[in-house]
Formats: sequence, C-alpha cells, structure tokens
Amino acid sequence: MARLVVLGGAESGVGAAVLAKVKGFDVFLSDNGSIKEEYVQTLRKWDIPFEQGGHTEDLVLNADEVVKSPGIPESVPIVRKLVAQGTHVISEIEFAGRYDKAKKICITGSNGKTTTTSLIYYLLKNAGLNVGLGGNIGQSYAMQVATEEHDYYVLEISSFQLDGCYDFHPDIAIITNITPDHLDRYDHNFENYIRSKFRITRNLRPEDCFIFDSDDEITVGHLSKIVVHAQQLPFSQEKEVQQGAFLKKDRIVLRYKQSESEIYLKELALGGRHNVYNSMAAALAAKAAGINNDIIRNSLKSFQPIEHRLEPVLSVGDVLYVNDSKATNVDAAWYALECQTRPVVWIVGGTDKGNDYSVLKPLVKEKVKAIVCLGVDNAKIHAAFEEIVGSDKICDTAGAGQAVKAAASFASAGDVVLLSPCCASFDLFKCYEDRGEQFKAAVRNL
Ligand code: ADP
Repeated sequence: MARLVVLGGAESGVGAAVLAKVKGFDVFLSDNGSIKEEYVQTLRKWDIPFEQGGHTEDLVLNADEVVKSPGIPESVPIVRKLVAQGTHVISEIEFAGRYDKAKKICITGSNGKTTTTSLIYYLLKNAGLNVGLGGNIGQSYAMQVATEEHDYYVLEISSFQLDGCYDFHPDIAIITNITPDHLDRYDHNFENYIRSKFRITRNLRPEDCFIFDSDDEITVGHLSKIVVHAQQLPFSQEKEVQQGAFLKKDRIVLRYKQSESEIYLKELALGGRHNVYNSMAAALAAKAAGINNDIIRNSLKSFQPIEHRLEPVLSVGDVLYVNDSKATNVDAAWYALECQTRPVVWIVGGTDKGNDYSVLKPLVKEKVKAIVCLGVDNAKIHAAFEEIVGSDKICDTAGAGQAVKAAASFASAGDVVLLSPCCASFDLFKCYEDRGEQFKAAVRNL
C-alpha cells in the first residue's frame, strides 16, 4: 500500500488526507502547530492517524509521496529534507485532480480571485449545472472529490497551490491580473511569482480556454514569451478584441465563437472598475461553458457583494463606512480608492509586504481628506502620505475601535470611511476576516 503523508492539518490538508484514505492509501497527517478541533474530529471520524506540535521525521520521510498544504513554505526543514531525498511533494489540488473527471474552471491572479470565482460559481448554479466550489475558498476541493459528485468545479487557486501542481489540467484557466504580492515566498523575485501564476496554463490543450486581462502588461509580457495551447480569450477595458470581452462606451461586449452579446455597465451588481474586469472574466468563462446570454446578464445583475471586499457596512450621520479588509496589497487598495466618488477618510496599515506606495499618491491627493493608520509600524505610511494630507490629518491607532472613532472624528456628512488597508492583518488581528469583523462591530457601536 502506497504511503501518503500530508503536511498541514487545516482545510486543504485534512481534505487531502480524507481523499487519500478513500482511495486506499496508507495515510498519515503531520502538523507542526496545533490542529483545530473541528479538523481533529474529521481525522478521527475517518480513522486517519495524525500528529500535531511537530513532525516526527521517521513517520514523514518514509512517504512515497507528500501532499503539502499551501501555507507551508518550501524552505522549512522537513520539506527541504523530503526534496533532497527525492520525494515528490505536491499540492492538494494536484492530488485531487488525479481522481476528478469533472470539467474544471480554475482562477488565479493577484487580485479578484475570490470575486471572480464566486461570480462564476453563481453563474453556473443559475444555469442549473451540478457544480462544486473549492480551492482556496470554502470546503477543500479534495474533500469534495472524496465525498461528492460534480460535473463542474470552479476552483480558486493561489500561487502557493500552483507551485505544487504538475499534471493538473484545467479546462478553462483564468489569470485575473498579476501585480507584486507574496514576494517574500518567491525570493523577492517578481519573475518567480509570475511564472508560478502561469503554471495554471501549462497543461492546457487546444480545446481548452485561457482567459486573461490584456490590459495587464505583466500578463501580456509573459504570455509573449511562452506557448499556451488553448483558445485565448482576452478581456480589456482599453481596446477591442476579436474574441473575448471589451468595453464599448457604456457596455461590455462579449465575443465568443460566432456570437456577440452585450451587458450594460449600469446593470452590473458589483461597482468599481476592477469589478468590470472580474465580470468580464466570469462572463467569458460562462460563455465557454455554454451558458446562454440571458443567464449571464441576469446573474451579473443579481450577484450579492462578498464580505470584506468593498462591502458597504452602514451609514452613520450620512458617513458611509465601507469594509475592504481583504485589500491586502497596493493594487487592491488602488481600485478601492479609484472607485470612490465621495471624500475619503482612509483607514490603512498592517503588516507591510514590501509595499511601494508611490502609485497611490495621485489618488490620495485627489480623493483622501484624512488618513487613519491602523498598524503596529506606520512609519512608511506617514513617509508616503503625510505631506499630501497634512500632519493634522493623519493619526496612528492600534485597534479597530480606536481607528473607527478616529475616522469618525475626521469625517463629515457626505464622506466615506474606507477600510482598505493595503497590508496583511497579522500585526494586530488574526486574519483579514477578523480585521473586517472588528471594523464592522466598531462601526455598529458608534
Ligand atoms: P483575491 O481572492 O485574489 O484576494 P478578492 O476578490 O478577494 O481577490 O479581492 C481582494 C481585494 O482586491 C478586495 O479589496 C477587492 O476589492 C480587490 N479586487 C477585486 N478584484 C480586483 C481586480 N480585478 N483588480 C484589483 N483589485 C481587485
């Protein structure tokens, strides 16, 4: 019996372990930290041996193959040892893909993955298809392959998950866009990160589709250097395309094979220029999956905003509070600021991932009246923006309640208070969801 060891005991790892069990492997799961109680229960229920609080080398290094959770960097000692001894280390996506015959629509990119993935899932559901949603979102893909039957999967795939993919084959692959992010995991080399995103295209075949942002110079630049064996469906807000999606005045035009259809921008449920891109990508995926124009248009109209992504929370004294806690990099915050039509009190800060704030300066000059820093170390934010807003219009806070109170004191009727932090949340919060929840609770407490 082949021995499969899973490293990491959270959603992805536990799903992979259950699938391995179902497929008859001698499976063992090892986690360096502590495993959440709900996952412990699942492992017990499936009778899967596991350890937590450290890796016992004898139990890990004897694996025939290893599934590594995406949160574990390649640089940790146990992974280095496995690689050095020639053990194949793969991702949960690669593993589950071996046992899945469903059609797969896979989405990667620096920003917009969750939004685009959720839009496509909603579209396919509305078309009455039997579809699973997984990857970096919701229940793990492997758990669903182990316990459910679907005709389609819509999978959000991070670059960390792609790094462990070799033979995984999407039928429709999407790269939403590529901007610098997570460079700490890529030797601070942007090229490595770009190549990682493009792994989603490596097994595409001529009958498959590749959907990408042709306004994104990074994506187009890399695409010109490689061969992708699939029908290319670009989307653009700047130029007309022969096949794909583009903007014509106040509407999106979709061109796929012989058909052409249109959707008015004012009909889209999600606002902001970035969501026009996401809607284009989702609509193209739906076209490629054979869904009719009416369902596409109606779904893009009725889709509900996702939590923590430009989520309107509440108006207090005609000041609108918006939670964009998921904006953990500069590009996401750029789009959040760009689509604001009211004067902005901007809550920003957290764990800086090597941000270059200079691209935000023109927008801050145009739209931001005051800045509330929410982080342990706010020096870079002061250095970038204090001169623009003025030293009396920027302050430091170290908690959501404090930040919301400070923002409220800067704001007047007709303004928006925007939490779009540009940074990861780990200095003051458990995760971006925790930051968003605490922000919303503080707003409701005003
Ligand atoms: P991801 O899953 O890639 O992190 P999300 O859909 O969760 O993407 O959105 C993350 C952040 O990026 C949010 O602040 C959102 O408003 C912003 N965003 C969404 N789509 C895009 C896009 N196409 N380009 C830039 N920013 C985007």
